Amino acid sequence: MVTEAAPVHPAGIDDWEPWIRLGAFLGAFAAMAAWEVLSPRRERLHPRRVRWTANLGLVVLNSLAVRLAFPVAAAGFAALAAERGWGALNAVELPPAVAFAVAVAALDLAIYFQHVMFHAVPLLWRLHRVHHADPDFDVTTGARFHPIEILLSMAIKLAAIALIGAPAAAVLAFEVILNACAMFNHGNVRLPEGLDRALRRVIVTPDMHRIHHSMEMAEANSNYGFNLAWWDRLLGTYRARAGLPQERMRIGVEGLTGSGPDVSLAGMLAMPLQGAAAHSRAPDPRLDGAGEPT
Ligand SMILES: [Zn+2]
Ligand SMILES: [Zn+2]
Repeated sequence: MVTEAAPVHPAGIDDWEPWIRLGAFLGAFAAMAAWEVLSPRRERLHPRRVRWTANLGLVVLNSLAVRLAFPVAAAGFAALAAERGWGALNAVELPPAVAFAVAVAALDLAIYFQHVMFHAVPLLWRLHRVHHADPDFDVTTGARFHPIEILLSMAIKLAAIALIGAPAAAVLAFEVILNACAMFNHGNVRLPEGLDRALRRVIVTPDMHRIHHSMEMAEANSNYGFNLAWWDRLLGTYRARAGLPQERMRIGVEGLTGSGPDVSLAGMLAMPLQGAAAHSRAPDPRLDGAGEPT
């Protein structure tokens, strides 16, 4: 008698997605935390224990908020979009590798524009300045976002996925890369100058993104990229150097940083309601003067 093997359902991307993301997060986090101990770029103002508890508390809260508010993960939504034929890449025939690369780059450009918008619109800046008000700049700053900003970002990401028609694998890769890059470019780490210059031709480095966390308004309104350094260079928002050396740059948001609640979980959650929505400006046109042709 021939017995038929039970059908094996291949695990969908949805089953693996949380584990791939968690593994990548923990791996990149551990690597950056160790690098920060071995070769720090700036002296810390606050002990890790205080800031890390608050910043990582926000990560847990944000993960829960996304799970509760959205019935599908981004990669699962991309699979649904493919099934229904939504978006540009689902309307054309491209080799899978090309569609993958185009989708990753297009998603990166979309979050570049989203980041510019969160600086330019005063109400959105109220949310986004929670990220900027961190008095220190390290691997945990890369995950310090207000839950409402995270929910809005997720909604924007889903809309971008539907418009682009991004393949599910590209969405998952993009999320893992974005997460790892955010931890890398918020690292309080020292890179040899030559290496920093070479990397900056392609990806955003810690020295490049640290300028974006300056208290100087014109500096904060530059270097919006998270992964690829090209968008800032192409769209005129690139700034090669801050006015002060990296070790002495003033980091944070005037009026919020140094106020005490800037390093507490409750303080960060209430921060959008605090004070005026100052500091929100469009990219500074004088920026060209500080840019570098390379
Ligand atoms: Zn920003
Ligand atoms: Zn940042």
